[in-house]
Amino acid sequence: MADEIISLSRIESYLVCPHAYYLDEKKKQEGLPITGFDAKSDWLKQSFRNLVSKAADKTPIKGLKGARLAAVLKYQYRSAETFGNEKQGEWLRRFSDEREKFHGRDIVWLYNPQWWIEGQNINKACHAYYSHLLKEGLPLDDLTEKDVEFYFGGRKWNVRPGVVRYGGIVEEIRTTDITKSKVNKDWTIAPKLYAIHTLSQDPENSMKWNAETGLRYRRVSLNGGDYYEPDKIIHMYAALYVVEHAEKRIANKEFAPNYKNCETCRYNVLTADNKPACKERKPKLRIMKPMNRLI
Ligand code: SF4
Repeated sequence: MADEIISLSRIESYLVCPHAYYLDEKKKQEGLPITGFDAKSDWLKQSFRNLVSKAADKTPIKGLKGARLAAVLKYQYRSAETFGNEKQGEWLRRFSDEREKFHGRDIVWLYNPQWWIEGQNINKACHAYYSHLLKEGLPLDDLTEKDVEFYFGGRKWNVRPGVVRYGGIVEEIRTTDITKSKVNKDWTIAPKLYAIHTLSQDPENSMKWNAETGLRYRRVSLNGGDYYEPDKIIHMYAALYVVEHAEKRIANKEFAPNYKNCETCRYNVLTADNKPACKERKPKLRIMKPMNRLI
């Protein structure tokens, strides 16, 4: 194990539910239905990415915020409210037919009408995201879907850090609530900062990000608009300990289910042959089925 690349996302997935990790290794995700929650998250990510990339195409964005940024964003959406309303409308028009697929996959809705409630959540999240951009400016680099590799503790790590903003700020955005204590306990922050630190060794990046005075990390919640910077960051060696401990358990094939997240888990679904994707899920839990198999 010690020679293998550390994939932060795989270790995080193991720690959420060891059995989900086991299924990740075994199953092809493409054949599975997607949950309503995951469809909403992907939809939002795509909407945010389009908003930022189209604005960045129009203007040099370094440090641009407030009224000057609003003047650029208004070519796409007049205001935060318009962005929220229009994205909600698009979502509702598409998913009011609950049998609609998402990227070719069936969707399982956990309750009725989840598609409607998620539309309202999309409106709120888009409104909050647009307002956040006006306040803080556009990100300079988006590393949420790109792998950054570095060496630490004799191991090669593979990490997706988040976005980088002017001033050397590394930021991750969530649609869920966050607390300061959760951010303080998050062992993944150090590897994310280390990844950006590695990239900042290239003077061009460092100058672009204005990161000479050091990097900062913050977690933003679109659900309420709070954001937190950690008071202290768990050291890289402690993060390495978490990783190696998880790796030992993986090597010992410890894949016991963790029932805490079963309700919204991507494996609490029926596969195309009508069998549960996870046979170990919480006993008596209702399984999620795509609408087109209910009628
Ligand atoms: S349904 Fe529950 S036990 Fe099964 S993979 Fe998901 S979280 Fe783990």
